[in-house]
Amino acid sequence: MESQKTLKRKMSCVGIGLHSGRKVKLTLKPAPADSGIVFRRTDQKGIEIPATADHLSCINHATCLARGETRIETVEHLLAALTTLGVDNVIVELDAAEVPIMDGSAAPFIYLIHEAGIKTLASRRSYIRITRPLSVVSDGRQVAAYPSDTLRISYTINFNHPMLRHQERSLEIHETNFVEEVAPARTFGFQKDVELLRQNGLGLGGSLDNALVLSETGVLNNHLRFSDEFVRHKILDVLGDLSLLNRPLLAHVVAFRAGHQLHTDLVQEILTSPDHWELVDYAEPSVSPHPATLRPSFAKASAASATRGGLTEPVS
Ligand SMILES: [Zn+2]
Repeated sequence: MESQKTLKRKMSCVGIGLHSGRKVKLTLKPAPADSGIVFRRTDQKGIEIPATADHLSCINHATCLARGETRIETVEHLLAALTTLGVDNVIVELDAAEVPIMDGSAAPFIYLIHEAGIKTLASRRSYIRITRPLSVVSDGRQVAAYPSDTLRISYTINFNHPMLRHQERSLEIHETNFVEEVAPARTFGFQKDVELLRQNGLGLGGSLDNALVLSETGVLNNHLRFSDEFVRHKILDVLGDLSLLNRPLLAHVVAFRAGHQLHTDLVQEILTSPDHWELVDYAEPSVSPHPATLRPSFAKASAASATRGGLTEPVS
């Protein structure tokens, strides 16, 4: 049996929304067992929106949740960090609609969670273990989930761009390799799309500080964190979207040219196909060769990103 976890104390950071361009304060707070991950809009009378598939709203370059008129946007990188680090229960307070983009990766959120510390709760954690394959397909794109005793993601992307004709990576997901191999990978976009996005009121907070921007021939940011940073970021995205299952997943997830829409379609497919999975309270111990640490350069960048705007506050 494994136990549910929450944070030891609350932590805050300030950043801007990638799409809205608005400044936003984010505070992570401990929460009791079985409460899950719950967003709370402090600027909207404290309305709460659980991070579950039944609150999924539009998918428009990011994954969004809604309850009535109240929205929470761009939840995926934060959710990936929380769930992969084993934080089952947490309140995420925001004073605007969009989770801050920070440096475009999940590394600043890892830093924040590590600073808050993780606390074990008395209640048992359960996992969704896939027992029969499931898949969703659309327009030559696909995501499938196959039976596995651990969570593995295999992702392939190809775009009509010289740097992205083919990237693929397959990783067993546990805290160590998530922190080191996936979390630092930044969001990316194409320069040719930037103007269109902005005409539609999106990407207003985007800059070379928080996104990799691809020109016709290369990447405008002169330095990649990994040669295949793009496909690693897609693994980060799918992990965030899978957290809307509300329980950790044991499966081999294979994605081909997918995105938030197909990732969340797979979540819905799993939830509406209970004969394809079972609830178990034990996962194979993941093979973590050493405690997870952000590479020093990312930790430094994350600390800077988390404190930009002057705030990383441990409050016990
Ligand atoms: Zn992303």
